[in-house]
Amino acid sequence: MHRLLPLVFLSLAVLCPSCAAEPAGPAPKPPAGGQPGEKPKDPAPAASAERPNAILISWDGLSREVVRELLKAERLPNLAALIKAGSFQEITVKGHETETRPGHAEMLTGLSADVTGVRSNSEGGEVPEGTTIFDRLKAAMGKDRIATIMVTGKAYVGSLVPDGSRKAIDTFDAGSRYAATVGPLALAALERYKGRRFAAFFHFLDPDSYGHGSGRDSEQYRKAAVTCDAWLGAMVEFLKKQKLEDSTLVYVMADHGMDEGGRQHYNAPDSWLATNDKEVTRGGTIADVPATLLARLGVDLAKLKPALLGKPLTGKPAPAEEKKAPEAKPKPVK
Ligand SMILES: [Zn+2]
Repeated sequence: MHRLLPLVFLSLAVLCPSCAAEPAGPAPKPPAGGQPGEKPKDPAPAASAERPNAILISWDGLSREVVRELLKAERLPNLAALIKAGSFQEITVKGHETETRPGHAEMLTGLSADVTGVRSNSEGGEVPEGTTIFDRLKAAMGKDRIATIMVTGKAYVGSLVPDGSRKAIDTFDAGSRYAATVGPLALAALERYKGRRFAAFFHFLDPDSYGHGSGRDSEQYRKAAVTCDAWLGAMVEFLKKQKLEDSTLVYVMADHGMDEGGRQHYNAPDSWLATNDKEVTRGGTIADVPATLLARLGVDLAKLKPALLGKPLTGKPAPAEEKKAPEAKPKPVK
C-alpha cells in the first residue's frame, strides 16, 4: 500500500470538483447474480471470432496528447500492442461538460445528454432504465446468452446505472478505489465468465485522480497511465492464456482529458480510443464507441429506442482519410 494514498484521497476531495460532487450515498450493493464458483444457469456458449466478447475500459481523465506522448516514449506497451492490432482514433467530447458523470453516461449508453439528462457531474441522476449497453445486449440476445460485467473505480460512475439495469448486470461492483483494487476485481470477473460470452466495462480512476492531485504536466499523472497500462496487459495476458484473444474486442478510452498545464478539466474535450477492433476506421464522439461495441456484438442499432446518438466507427474511412495513402512522390520543381 502506498503511504501517500490516504493523502491523495484527501486532496482529491478538496481539489477535484468532480470528486467533491460525488454523492456520499450508501455503500454499493454486492454484485448481482450468483456467487463465485456457482455455475450459471443455462450457460451461454463461449465467444468465437464471429460472436465476440467485448471489454470497454475507461482511463478516467487521461488526455489524448499525454497518451500520444507516452506511446511515443514507449511507456504504454500494452496500449501500443492493442493499437498495432487495430488502431488509435481521436474521440471528441461534445454536448455536455467535460466531466466524469456525463462522459460515462454517454459511454455506457451511446445516448445524448438530452436523453440521459446527465449534462454535468451535478446535473442529472441515473440514465433511463434499460438504456445501458448491458441492457441492450441482454435485450437483443436473451438475458442468459451474454454475461455482463461492470467494475468501477468511482462509486458515482456506478450511480449512473438505475436499479433495474443494475440488477440485470451479472457482476456489478462500483466503489471508489484505485487500479490496485479495480484491476484484480476485473481479472476475477473475467475468470468467472471466461466460459461464456461476455461484455465488460472496467473503469480506472487513477489518471483523473493524479491529474487533480499533481497536475496534467506531472510525472504522477503519467505514472497513473502506466499503471492502467499494466492492468490492460494483465487482462490481455489472461485472454491469451484462455485463447480468447482473437474473440475479444477491447476498447480503451477516456471520458475527458485534462486542462493543459492544469489540475482540472473545465474544457478538456480531447479523448481517444485505442482498440484491437480491426473494423474501426475512424474517430468520432464518445457515443460512437458504445454504438460500435453494440453493432460489433450483433445488436441491430436501428431497432433501439431511444435511438442512439452514436454511430459505429466502422466502415470505409472518409475520402480525405483515404487520400493520405499512398502518398505520391512529389515531382521535381523546375
Ligand atoms: Zn476529475
